Amino acid sequence: MFAMLVGMATYFMAVGFIIVEKTVITAVLFALARKRGMNAVRWAIAGFLLDFWALLFYLWVRHKTKNRKCSNCSEHLDENAKFCPRCGNSSEKPDDGKLVMRFVLGVVIAIAAFSVIGGILSALIG
Ligand SMILES: [Zn+2]
Repeated sequence: MFAMLVGMATYFMAVGFIIVEKTVITAVLFALARKRGMNAVRWAIAGFLLDFWALLFYLWVRHKTKNRKCSNCSEHLDENAKFCPRCGNSSEKPDDGKLVMRFVLGVVIAIAAFSVIGGILSALIG
């Protein structure tokens, strides 16, 4: 009986922790993405679904998109610039396809990691 109560208390603490953690990560990602002019809602959803994986993914993507360069003359471009200020080359956010690929890759890695962690946990618990 006592063991069951401890088990239930642990379970509810774990669930509570996950809810708080998801809320915090969702809010943080939403704020960060909006600040950088990225799709805040999409990042918030990713944060809710993937937890800290989304946060890691955000940091990874943010780093990659930070220093955009003109594909024609290598001039540094602003994050949302559509044309190169030096040569006028249309930059059309060429990273979009790559970003989708990175996102898919990130999701696959996250699922794989969750499977491994889940497997280890279920093996430990019984
Ligand atoms: Zn250029």
